[in-house]
Amino acid sequence: MSTITEGYLNHKIFGIVSETAAEMGVRAFVIGGYVRDCFLGRSNDDIDIVVEGRGIELAEAVGQKVRSKVSVFRNFGTAMLRFEGMEIEFVGARKESYHRESRNPIVEDGTLEEDQLRRDFTINAMAFSLQKEDFGALVDPFGGIRDLAAGVIRTPRDPDETYSDDPLRMLRAVRFATKLSTPEHPFAIVPESMDSIRRMAPRMEILSRERIAEELNKILLCPRPSMGFRLMDEAGMLPYVLPDLQALKGVETMDGKGHKENFSHTLQVLDNVAEVDGGKLWLRWAALLHDIGKPRSKRFAPGLGWTFHGHNVIGAKMVPGIFKSLKMTQGDEMKYVQKLVDLHLRPIALVDEEVTDSAVRRLLFDAGNDIGDLMILCNADITSKNPAKVARIRANFELVKQKMSEVEQKDEIRNFKNPIDGAYVMEVFGIPPCQEIGILKEAVKNAILDGEIGNNFAEADALMRQKAAEIGLHPVK
Ligand code: ATP
Ligand code: MG
Repeated sequence: MSTITEGYLNHKIFGIVSETAAEMGVRAFVIGGYVRDCFLGRSNDDIDIVVEGRGIELAEAVGQKVRSKVSVFRNFGTAMLRFEGMEIEFVGARKESYHRESRNPIVEDGTLEEDQLRRDFTINAMAFSLQKEDFGALVDPFGGIRDLAAGVIRTPRDPDETYSDDPLRMLRAVRFATKLSTPEHPFAIVPESMDSIRRMAPRMEILSRERIAEELNKILLCPRPSMGFRLMDEAGMLPYVLPDLQALKGVETMDGKGHKENFSHTLQVLDNVAEVDGGKLWLRWAALLHDIGKPRSKRFAPGLGWTFHGHNVIGAKMVPGIFKSLKMTQGDEMKYVQKLVDLHLRPIALVDEEVTDSAVRRLLFDAGNDIGDLMILCNADITSKNPAKVARIRANFELVKQKMSEVEQKDEIRNFKNPIDGAYVMEVFGIPPCQEIGILKEAVKNAILDGEIGNNFAEADALMRQKAAEIGLHPVK
């Protein structure tokens, strides 16, 4: 039988699952993202299989046939195997709602349609039959195809039920709208769903922070992530996801003077970064948080207007807490974001000053290997509405970049390593570990960065001896 879905199910694995299910006397279907992406013409290497019966058993039987290791997640009632570049996940159809937050035991006694009803969105609830008699037939009881064509995110059930069952679905609605939207074919969350989310948003409090963070990361990795944050804002979710972002909203006016609307500005910077970064998650986090210290540093100086002095430092201090609140890493990725937030004003500050070698050296030293990402962020941060101003800043910015590559070629500051180390200082002056060591090393570092001496051992050693004499230290030999 030929069906409209022919061609989507050519991979060997579908035939094998079909055959195995028939041998076991159960019905199996491809469901969810893979089906949706077939119709959108998007590639997807993740296949979800739902079985009327025990998903794990079918997975194990298929695993044996294709000689592939099966990972079983008993708590979730799922099993996964990899085969020829595909990742295939098996699950038994359920009558009751199932999600990772649920404490109920998993009962796999549902029919396909019962299972579909408990999925998040109509576009994610479509299935392809893997039965011999109608292989490839689309099973779409809730109008997923219609909604896909119309570009709408709609729940199969009453949205209040779907969202209260697993509040993460509210964030998933945002994620799918953001991810699937293209300029030619935008997606929107249907109004009933938006209304429901506005009512249900406080239910997000019960979610584990890890699940929220996972969705946030996926939203950040969309081609135009601003859309996701605007939707979260419209639906009243920000306070439950990232309250510090909520605090960026709004414009205060004093003596007739307003300031930049920092929420829109942040989203613009985020999109600017996303356009050029090739998918760097942590750089996008840095963009999202680059001005996060602004609300706390905001001051109005009569005659001068609004200032946000030190917002980069305040923002950098906030980063560990924000990551912690989402149970995200405190390791290198966090430190990278923190560093970029801290340094995000530095390249642009150079634009307004005379670009001296020593200022450039210091920037290269502080940014190290993240200098390229810092420059992307800083360039993205130029969002003035005045085209003449933007053109002028960008031209100067190019000068800074050029100067940077000159200085880097000459002095190799980026991977700066002090030619003088602590052990050497102790040996020369016959001293135990003490603060003088730090003072001497710092003096050498500063002299190199300021261009007073070259980045080499001989000059560093001479300077160390001179500075040591000034503080009363003399070589033992
Ligand atoms: P992606 O391409 O981003 O992986 P996906 O649709 O495959 O998209 P998954 O999170 O991998 O999304 O989930 C697979 C399928 O499982 C979904 O299409 C949906 O049918 C169902 N699903 C996943 N999470 C939930 C949930 N929290 N509530 C209801 N259904 C869910
Ligand atoms: Mg998937």
